[in-house]
Amino acid sequence: MDQVKSAIKYGRELFLAGVNNAANGNLSFRKGKNIFITRSGSVMSELSSRDLVNIDSELASCEAPTHKLILENTSQINAVLHTHSPNAIALSLKIKKKFIKPLDLEGLYHFPQIPVVTSKMVPNAPDLPKKILDNQHYQAVIVRGHGLFTFGQDVREAYLKALTVDNICKILLLAK
Ligand SMILES: [Zn+2]
Repeated sequence: MDQVKSAIKYGRELFLAGVNNAANGNLSFRKGKNIFITRSGSVMSELSSRDLVNIDSELASCEAPTHKLILENTSQINAVLHTHSPNAIALSLKIKKKFIKPLDLEGLYHFPQIPVVTSKMVPNAPDLPKKILDNQHYQAVIVRGHGLFTFGQDVREAYLKALTVDNICKILLLAK
């Protein structure tokens, strides 16, 4: 599927799944030689092609530096998704460990462990992009008290990983 159509479709699906709400979260993808990202303030459940802007645009999400660093330094990743998943945030605030280990069968199959990084609690934290890049090989990174980053060959794959990690965190919260 065309990545613009995918961004619009899965942005809405994330909202319906309760993984994102209001105007939080953002996503980016490679298209040809360009990288596109959601516009600052865009609502993931209401995206249109006008909300997808060049990553260097002044209209880009304030979290563009993290997306840009990942997409410019990896060849196998073509899409980056960032959500403010309540389950991932709540779990990250409850634990002090640097990794989350799933309890459920499906979670363990996809993610033997998920890193939890800590960064400054401000928008566009300057220490965040490199911490995410350093952990991108885990396929998902949770930022303590902030949210979740997932990566994929396309937007759909990043979206499926976000749902899986949200489920992992929900099960951990319910089982403890
Ligand atoms: Zn965020």
